[in-house]
Amino acid sequence: NRQIYFVQRPNGMPDENTFDLRTSEIPEPGAGEVLVRTVYLSVDPYMRGRMSDRKSYVAPFALNEVLSGGVVGQVEVSKDDRFQAGDLVTGLLGWQDYSVAKADELNKVDPNLAPPSAYLGALGMPGLTAYFGLLDIGQPKAGETVVVSGAAGAVGTIVGQIAKIKGARVVGIAGSAEKNRYLKEELGFDAVINYKTEDVQKALEKACPNGVDVYFDNVGGPISDAVATLLNKFARIPLCGQISMYNLKEPEQGPRIQTSLLINSALMKGFIVSDYQSRSAEGTKQLGEWVSQGKIVYQENIVEGLENTPEAFLGLFSGENLGKQLVKVSDI
Ligand code: NDP
Repeated sequence: NRQIYFVQRPNGMPDENTFDLRTSEIPEPGAGEVLVRTVYLSVDPYMRGRMSDRKSYVAPFALNEVLSGGVVGQVEVSKDDRFQAGDLVTGLLGWQDYSVAKADELNKVDPNLAPPSAYLGALGMPGLTAYFGLLDIGQPKAGETVVVSGAAGAVGTIVGQIAKIKGARVVGIAGSAEKNRYLKEELGFDAVINYKTEDVQKALEKACPNGVDVYFDNVGGPISDAVATLLNKFARIPLCGQISMYNLKEPEQGPRIQTSLLINSALMKGFIVSDYQSRSAEGTKQLGEWVSQGKIVYQENIVEGLENTPEAFLGLFSGENLGKQLVKVSDI
């Protein structure tokens, strides 16, 4: 059983010293437990926060333990009545070939409703993040302008498409021409900005002639500073992520946007997808309907091989992924 251990807390960007690949025996499940073979692993930006030893909304990863995250896997052995060998399941499991999990901590996946990998993306945590953050906090209305940063990622692609469903004008900010082509041509974004090659402030002024009503913030930093100058009266900002800052060694001092919030009576609200746990069935059902109706499409970036999980994770910070970044560990 190959396993990826967390062996050193990174200072700045994680690197090869952060991880160690080790091998152990395949574990045996006890009563009420299930042996799961990993099929897909999810790598997510929030995992960077867990690598630092500071207070956050989830506990830091412990050193010298196997890293963990969202997994889709297949049951190999079940010692619980609710699961049978062959079932497909999701859960929070280790970065390893095989995991023993408590049956209570697994959910079955129906491969007839959607491909199993979708339960880590559009129909999983990132999809629900987009759904609740945009609709509960952002509340876009027809004709309004919605700007989304990190637009070509797992969350951003879904945010933009839901905003379009609600009749808004959608402006996406992402880091490559290929990503922006996808957003415009395949997802129907109204305007796109490449923050690596364009003057974001000027491009935003051009792309948002009527100002910004909703800003779904995935990245923070200078991009968000620029958007803040264009807020309309009663604008809403779902504060979802700050990926541009996750690897900074020292906090960055930027323009302060409170004045813009004040003079525009704007709302900025941080949220964690788990705040909406009690409503997750509603979100999954609606996202599933939109996917089956073709109103939401999704893209996955799949790296093959458990041993390449650290590389896939690091790729999130250099923008390697279009859509949801996954690692394929074994076949179904
Ligand atoms: P993505 O699939 O969007 O992957 C990360 C993307 O971020 C990269 O592809 C890259 O795209 C972009 N990026 C990386 N570094 C920077 C930077 N310095 N400045 C601007 N963009 C950058 O990840 P997710 O969709 O899973 O997550 C998006 C955000 O949402 C993250 O901040 C994450 O922490 C947050 N999140 C929050 C949740 C919550 O409950 N609040 C739940 C899930 C995610 P590019 O090529 O465009 O640079």
